[in-house]
Amino acid sequence: MARAEIGLIGLGTMGAALASNIAEKGFPIAVWNRTTEVTRSFHANSGALAENIVPTESLEELVKAIKSPRAIILMVPAGKAVDDQIAALSPLLDQDDLVIDAGNANFHDTNRRAAAGLPMHFLGMGVSGGEEGARHGPSIMGGGDRADWDRVSHILTAISAKTDDGTACATWMGQAGAGHFVKTVHNGIEYADMQMIAEIYGIMRDGLGHTAAEVAETFAQWNKGPLQSYLVEISAAVAGAADPITGKPMLDVILDAAGQKGTGRWTAIEAQHLAAPVPVIEAAVMARNVSSRIGERQLGEAAYGPAPKPLTEGMATADLEQALIAGKILCYAQGFTMISAASESFGWDLPLPEIARVWRAGCIIRSSMLNEMATALSEDAGRNLILAPDFVARVKAGVPALRRVVAAGALNGLACPALAAGLSWFDMFTTARGTANMIQGQRDFFGAHGFDRLDGADSHHGPWGAN
Ligand code: NDP
Repeated sequence: MARAEIGLIGLGTMGAALASNIAEKGFPIAVWNRTTEVTRSFHANSGALAENIVPTESLEELVKAIKSPRAIILMVPAGKAVDDQIAALSPLLDQDDLVIDAGNANFHDTNRRAAAGLPMHFLGMGVSGGEEGARHGPSIMGGGDRADWDRVSHILTAISAKTDDGTACATWMGQAGAGHFVKTVHNGIEYADMQMIAEIYGIMRDGLGHTAAEVAETFAQWNKGPLQSYLVEISAAVAGAADPITGKPMLDVILDAAGQKGTGRWTAIEAQHLAAPVPVIEAAVMARNVSSRIGERQLGEAAYGPAPKPLTEGMATADLEQALIAGKILCYAQGFTMISAASESFGWDLPLPEIARVWRAGCIIRSSMLNEMATALSEDAGRNLILAPDFVARVKAGVPALRRVVAAGALNGLACPALAAGLSWFDMFTTARGTANMIQGQRDFFGAHGFDRLDGADSHHGPWGAN
């Protein structure tokens, strides 16, 4: 007799961790993996959890092992593998059964699958927190029909991360691709957070001559203050680690070419479609792309000479901290605005305060500041985060330092594209009379596109022909 509460396909890094988490929380789980040996060794190495794990060696066996109506999590690479698994499961499942794609799907694919009229129910679910999160408590962002989410929410809530106040980090975000969309923006913000930390590291290393150990100490200190976050914490650990082969600091032996799997890029692309400005995220994606062009950068350095110069006037560590705080707030304000824009464009009702809450634990961008962001968004989800009084005060405190850091970077050839992009956006955001009147004049001059006038009249044309 079927005894598993749920099934899972794909026992890779994330799937194995998630299956163990589910088994540990007391839900019998049936598992199947394309390579059978992986299933066998996963079960054999599961220790006491093995009694809650049903290893299966065919999809038919997997389906039979799960109580009906069934729920099956897919944890396979995004894209074709998901479509293939859905196709393979289709003839085996009943109409009432549910497939949950928990990989990093492009939310457009999830929308497509939801609209395709699959022969079973379907949820798209973003899971954040890496292997450790999946094993001990990820942040979970669900999308699809609410009734389908409710069917499995007791399991998802049980396995999710919990905040200090005991809130479970598992939330239904809305229809179709809403969960995968929120996960995508999460990843975009993750890129930006990481890039800004790397830029500040660059100023410490190349501008101030700090050793990796000193950098580690600074990040560790910051992790006790407003910047407390998983990413600052691990940056301290990375900077403090020594290479077992050479004994040098790990940072000094790691190649400076950043990898990426595409979710940051998807965020930047989608932001353009939504006309939602996320320049910090865009700069972070650009920076990863430039970083990977090592040969080109070597030619550049040979042609123009080494750029980074020591900061002759130094830079207070407190300025670097304040700049990072300001950059982070500006970046999150952009990310939440993008989520609002998507909510409107796709007819979702994405719950901004809930999104900030669900990111507070379990996921890679978890930080203490998300508590205050959740509070500010609860007061008024339609207001830009940097207009919330608490954040106005923080940004006012941080922006002067951000200016000093970006200016010092520009003057000394220390690239800090994400911090600079945040600052430029801030300067535009806070300038009631901008410079787009010139652009409108140019557009009308060459294309007769017309412009609105400050005195209220619209669709005017300039006297260009007369000139
Ligand atoms: P892994 O590469 O570790 O594992 C992939 C799994 O999918 C393996 O079990 C593999 O089986 C199986 N698989 C691969 N191709 C196919 C296919 N065509 N058909 C059926 N099964 C297939 O990947 P991860 O666990 O890291 O990632 C899984 C998903 O989770 C991805 O969408 C990823 O983007 C997402 N994710 C990953 C995170 C991470 O930190 N790693 C974080 C959050 C989400 P086999 O053993 O036979 O190769």
